[in-house]
Amino acid sequence: MTEIVPLQALKDNYVWTLRNATHAAVVDPGEARPVLEYLAREKLQLAAILATHHHPDHVGGIPQLLAAHRVPVYGPKREPIPTLTDPIAEGDTVSIPELGVTLSVLDIPGHTRAHIAYYGVESLFCGDTLFACGCGRLFEGTAEQMMSSLAKLAALPDATRVFCGHEYTLANIAFAQAVEPANAALAARLARDGKLRAAGKPTLPSTLGEERATNPFLRCREPAVVESANKYLGARISDPVRVFAAIREWKNRF
Ligand SMILES: [Zn+2]
Repeated sequence: MTEIVPLQALKDNYVWTLRNATHAAVVDPGEARPVLEYLAREKLQLAAILATHHHPDHVGGIPQLLAAHRVPVYGPKREPIPTLTDPIAEGDTVSIPELGVTLSVLDIPGHTRAHIAYYGVESLFCGDTLFACGCGRLFEGTAEQMMSSLAKLAALPDATRVFCGHEYTLANIAFAQAVEPANAALAARLARDGKLRAAGKPTLPSTLGEERATNPFLRCREPAVVESANKYLGARISDPVRVFAAIREWKNRF
């Protein structure tokens, strides 16, 4: 039985740790210290390191982890991560026999040029592409790329648990409410996640079903989202990519 545990790193990053009684694998270790401390405290052996993209707050801890543990490092083939031992892309799978887990790899460019996600055990590790109630900034890709990456993730089953890279949920919900003030599912989400944060707990994982119901970046065809994008732009548009680009730009200024 694989358990998935959040380790807090840096300011608001999560290093998602898949574990059983003896072994662990970590996703996006931006910092080594919390991982090393957790492995020592729980008497676990590291089995693998998985990276979603090249940003330092996701891969910065890898060299120090490798100094203590010789394990494979999986990550996007077309991004500059010097510590990778196993460069991968969509169509590849990652097997972690120590955990009895196999994950498939999806290409989801947009935040960075070759960002990948890992999907398996009803779980999605999506780095800085899909956030709880939001999405990543477009640093190296276009709105069109990001939108099709998000659509690929949104096509996974409703029950899929979403493990993203940062605790941005409350700020994202505040923006989502500006876009869709009448969305009742958003109000319910704010009430629940506000309580979790007040108790110092993560709001993650969410589920894909919940993201489809509340995340404005997955809802660019909804009339209320189109209307808000039009108000923001002061123009009449309905093309979903333009709606997406408008609310992404609005969020940057929000
Ligand atoms: Zn990033």
